[in-house]
Amino acid sequence: MFDKILIANRGEIALRVLRACKELGISTVAVHSTADADAMHVRLADESVCIGPPPAKDSYLNIPALLTACEITGADAVHPGYGFLAENARFAEILAEHDVHFIGPRPEHIRLMGDKIAAKHAARELGIPTVPGSQGGIGSDEEAHRLAREIGFPVMLKAAAGGGGRGMKVVRAENELASALATARAEAKASFDDDTIYLEKYLDRPRHIEIQVLGDGKGRAIHLGERDCSLQRRHQKVWEEGPSPALNSAARDQICETVAKAMREIKYLGAGTVEFLYEDGKFNFIEMNTRIQVEHPVTEMITDIDLIVEQIRVAAGNDLALAQGDVKFHGHAIECRINAENPVSFRPSPGKIIHYHPPGGLGVRIDSAVYHGYAIPPFYDSLVGKLIVHGKTRSECLMRLKRALDEFVVDGIETTLPLFRALASETEIIDGDYHIHWLEEFLARGALEQ
Ligand code: ADP
Repeated sequence: MFDKILIANRGEIALRVLRACKELGISTVAVHSTADADAMHVRLADESVCIGPPPAKDSYLNIPALLTACEITGADAVHPGYGFLAENARFAEILAEHDVHFIGPRPEHIRLMGDKIAAKHAARELGIPTVPGSQGGIGSDEEAHRLAREIGFPVMLKAAAGGGGRGMKVVRAENELASALATARAEAKASFDDDTIYLEKYLDRPRHIEIQVLGDGKGRAIHLGERDCSLQRRHQKVWEEGPSPALNSAARDQICETVAKAMREIKYLGAGTVEFLYEDGKFNFIEMNTRIQVEHPVTEMITDIDLIVEQIRVAAGNDLALAQGDVKFHGHAIECRINAENPVSFRPSPGKIIHYHPPGGLGVRIDSAVYHGYAIPPFYDSLVGKLIVHGKTRSECLMRLKRALDEFVVDGIETTLPLFRALASETEIIDGDYHIHWLEEFLARGALEQ
């Protein structure tokens, strides 16, 4: 096992990793920018190193500074959390070159899944169902027209190097295709320095369903069920739950087993998530994330498995301690990502929290790094914290969620708590009857402005 882990992240995920390390008896090193000197992960870690000024590119993305921090502290492994360098294959390689373990998949898998076209191709080869569309990048405009006609409008243009909900364009009719392609290419070049675009069928009202996997890199891999992340705004997940209200056990078992088998085949190492759009009873692979995800607590609540602990164990070369049969699902969990934003305009609202009272009680979990008097800096994401609630059934979970949301007090800044309070009382949410555009349609009706 590792002796000392450097956590190359900040905020709630840094704290989450730190907690797992403490329970495993592993020493921790926090890194921070000058803006995060008072952050909770810095206070709770055994050691801390300042790695640069506030902009992420100068601190949390600063590989030389992180390497120096490993060297100064003698850390033998790095946990990247999510975001920042979590899916940077080169970072994993550089660490290996310096005899530091990267807690995550092998670089070749990070690279493969980071290239969306290669990932789709690999998925197809592994027997995972994919969204109908181009086999690779689109060459000529003529090819795009032919393919779009073949699969039918609307279609979606996606940047091969896109991510985080960026680099996607819906094209509703043929006469919009040529100009959309030109803009998509130019935008992709500007944002990702790669103008490769691919085309796929635009699914009208799918659900976003993702499968959590865990592998030991030696051919053992299991699934930990699914999460439904259909409630999104601008392709960003807002509310996640598991199990999905849309799946029956036959559909669930089939997709989960297909994915687990694929992970065994590629000898996947670490935690990962295989994402699908689910429509008309069909799963359509969109991408795989080769890291821990923001919404991982949903799975932890319904399986009682600590995903970060398992990530650390397999990264240290241990065999997967769990067989598929050891994973027992119980009850229902919902996660709300509470942001420091105006709940109507979604304008960021960084600043000082003058009063903070998180909810508690049975089945209520808060993953947050904020505290009374903490000032949310303007430089990073606007997450205040994640409220995760568990219940024996979905309806118990929803009742508990409402109760927890009512207890939650965050004063001094604006938060999206009112949005979640409204969602928890919406009939279609209560019925589990929603899709990936539901939230934007709900917001467009001005439901929160009254
Ligand atoms: P990113 O890596 O940027 O998160 P994804 O490929 O995972 O991109 O897609 C993010 C979200 O975009 C999906 O959850 C879904 O809401 C929407 N999306 C992606 N592909 C399609 C598609 N073919 N049809 C409709 N919506 C899509």
